[in-house]
Amino acid sequence: MADRKFVYFFGNEDTEGKNSMKDLLGGKGANLAEMANLGIPVPPGFTITTEVCVLYLEKGAYPDGVLDQINDAIEKLERINNKKFGDVENPLLLSVRSGARVSMPGMMDTVLNLGLNDDTVEGLARKTGNERFAYDSYRRFLTMFGDVVLDIDHHKFESVLSAKKKEIGATLDTELKAESLKELVEIFKSIIRENTGNNFPQDPREQLQMAIDAVFNSWNNQRAITYRKLNDIPTDWGTAVNVQSMVYGNMGETSGTGVAFTRDPGTGEKEFFGEYLINAQGEDVVAGIRTPQPIATLKQTMPDAYAQLEEIYQKLEDHFKDMQDIEFTIEEGKLYMLQTRTGKRTAAAALNIAVDMVNEGLIDKETALMRVKPEQMDQLLHPMIDPESEYEIIATGLPASPGAAVGKVVFTAEHAEEMASIDEKVILVRAETSPEDIGGMDAAQGILTVRGGMTSHAAVVARGMGKPCVVGCGAITIDMTSSTFTVCDVTVKEGDYITVDGATGGLIIGKVDLITPGVTGELETLLKWADEFREMGVRTNADTPHDALVAREFGAEGIGLCRTEHMFFGDDRIPVVREMILAEDEDVRKKALKKLLPMQREDFIGIFRAMEGYPVTIRLLDPPLHEFLPKHEELANKLKILEEDASNRPKVEIESLKKVMERVESLIEINPMLGHRGCRLGITYPEIYEMQVQAIIEAACELKLEGIDIVPEIMIPLICHVNELRSAKKDLVEVAEAVIAKNCIDLDYLVGTMIELPRAALTADQIAQEAEFFSFGTNDLTQTTFGFSRDDAGKFLPFYVSDSILEADPFAVLDQDGVGELVKIGIEKGRSTRPDLKIGICGEHGGEPSSVKFGYNIGLNYVSCSPFRVPIARLAAAQAAIEKQDNS
Ligand code: PEP
Ligand code: MG
Repeated sequence: MADRKFVYFFGNEDTEGKNSMKDLLGGKGANLAEMANLGIPVPPGFTITTEVCVLYLEKGAYPDGVLDQINDAIEKLERINNKKFGDVENPLLLSVRSGARVSMPGMMDTVLNLGLNDDTVEGLARKTGNERFAYDSYRRFLTMFGDVVLDIDHHKFESVLSAKKKEIGATLDTELKAESLKELVEIFKSIIRENTGNNFPQDPREQLQMAIDAVFNSWNNQRAITYRKLNDIPTDWGTAVNVQSMVYGNMGETSGTGVAFTRDPGTGEKEFFGEYLINAQGEDVVAGIRTPQPIATLKQTMPDAYAQLEEIYQKLEDHFKDMQDIEFTIEEGKLYMLQTRTGKRTAAAALNIAVDMVNEGLIDKETALMRVKPEQMDQLLHPMIDPESEYEIIATGLPASPGAAVGKVVFTAEHAEEMASIDEKVILVRAETSPEDIGGMDAAQGILTVRGGMTSHAAVVARGMGKPCVVGCGAITIDMTSSTFTVCDVTVKEGDYITVDGATGGLIIGKVDLITPGVTGELETLLKWADEFREMGVRTNADTPHDALVAREFGAEGIGLCRTEHMFFGDDRIPVVREMILAEDEDVRKKALKKLLPMQREDFIGIFRAMEGYPVTIRLLDPPLHEFLPKHEELANKLKILEEDASNRPKVEIESLKKVMERVESLIEINPMLGHRGCRLGITYPEIYEMQVQAIIEAACELKLEGIDIVPEIMIPLICHVNELRSAKKDLVEVAEAVIAKNCIDLDYLVGTMIELPRAALTADQIAQEAEFFSFGTNDLTQTTFGFSRDDAGKFLPFYVSDSILEADPFAVLDQDGVGELVKIGIEKGRSTRPDLKIGICGEHGGEPSSVKFGYNIGLNYVSCSPFRVPIARLAAAQAAIEKQDNS
């Protein structure tokens, strides 16, 4: 082990590391070495490898050879700097920083000016002729060492510093003279003594050893452990330690320190972006003690250093081929780089930088596509809270549908519609929504519900509409009698303004400014590139011509799910639908359905036209019938009122209300999600599906006569046994053939099914004998595989996720091990019967990037998602194809 290399030197000579050694040297160490290799001025130093961290934490001791290698490296630093570590006349001072493979907040950060003690500080003062600088450095060192190595709350030091400034009437640290700084040093040492029971270690070697130990130990502090868990960072990576010669930004007016980005991290604009402070050390910029200057002014204050900085940042960007986040220090006019790393950026910046860099010839299209996170694209398409505005989030629910909305509170769908009709902007606040609320949801700017999960009715419908929506916000309590809701002791009345942020789940009382980013040219460009690479189709879930058109604009190549139940609502439809449900015999029901037929036909004509020949999958009615009737409680209230006023009412009014109530009672189900819905409804009331198929085929025939070729895909929901499909299909084919024959036309159509129950997936080979296509309904498949109710899981799922029982909400991110395995089995079995079976997915997962990628890898032909998620799916599908290509 003694021969093993544990310490890697870097400097403008003898650099031993390089950028590709991040696993061993950590991101910071590898990039410092790389900068040195590029001839960029970095203060020389050395990196102690991540391997040492792992061995040290395992054994509680350093492996043989490490300490010798550290001593050798210090000797080398002494030689290069012509200073000596611990020397009273000409002391070498060091910085110590942690640096894991990826940047990791929560770990020990930085100790500067290490090596100072009561003697070397004097030497530094004499050598530089700057006593103020020497004592300023010493008080900083004591604070940082006390804070990060000895774990003493930094406020203890800062409150003394503030008191001192107050005492002498100073507002800035820089106004403190050497005398005051000397006094602070004494007090700081006594703080350390009081808090640790020991004197501050005067021996620089001991200081260094303690600082290195502290960095390694910080790998296992609670904050770091939590961060690793949240970000899937393996424990056995360990952190490296970077020990570097100090350069000083606090040596006076020709010194300074700053941080910068090679492009604007907010917008992506190709403009050097950053700030700096004169006469300061690194932590001052981040700590916000003084307001830093914009980087552009450095051009005037220190033109030479600025010119050098400009040259370096361009060199770094050219070399790393990505936007860099850099730290620098200027010591008496001389520039040093302390760090470079890939800069974090907003979604807009990620997009703009990726496209610009392709146009500049820096990267290829594949790289650009891999650099934009599909999930970030949501931010680019919806209105969002202006990042400049100030606001307080009073409660948080689930971020069900992205975008932010501001409006007046209303508590009923009818009220929402009324207010919208007089151009008032409203937010619909409900305990939960039901299909009846659809008009109100459409009229509102946004939706907030107390209950419900990511695939609750409100969530699914809002996403489909592209409406901002927060669901499951359990912190609010609605009181319908007083038309108010309360949240954290605040009472919000109907008509008061609130803001909801569907991207974060946040609820804000009052109005907040919004901005609408819109679809920019870069977005279009990137998505076109995505289409060049992706192999899987992207369709949309849309129920109206408007949604279909929106989805087309976002690049949808067809409709993968048209939920026809949404066509049963609406003022003109609901009375007829109720007539149909309340019908006592088949004849009456058929009469009502006859009235619905032309309406449905018009709906389909509209949708087919909007999709201009792209495939359209229409799902026959799925939800249980009671959803179309008024709520029992509402009816009971109404009946009470009527009965109280019975003498003035016609008897028939009360009788008919009673009849409706009886029907509602007879349709009530304990567990409607597992009840009389889907194909079970179509099999027991065949005339409903027959009417729908007639409408679909008539619409397609009409368009065909106009010259628009449509191949309708008729989809039967919630099949669990092939016999269900056989039975339903037989009737439907007869109806379809009759319509086609009547129109004397040649029309192709397909009859397929949703696979949304485990039994369907497991018997997909049998089901494929009848089904001409499959579409996985992963919402119901998740519900039935986990046994979690889609509407009630909001009560425990957030806890499951925060407590790491589940990695993610399975209704939002496909559970690949369980539900995904069923999808895989379904695909394999389905294609074993019908090798060319077209298979898609139309649950909410169809627009979630990791699920889209999984779908591609297991052989789906397409994914289908709500219109606003189409761009996300396009990009994710392209990334999946590029990743596959890279791995092969
Ligand atoms: C599904 O279950 O995944 C699906 C798409 O159908 P719905 O959400 O309408 O039940
Ligand atoms: Mg379903």
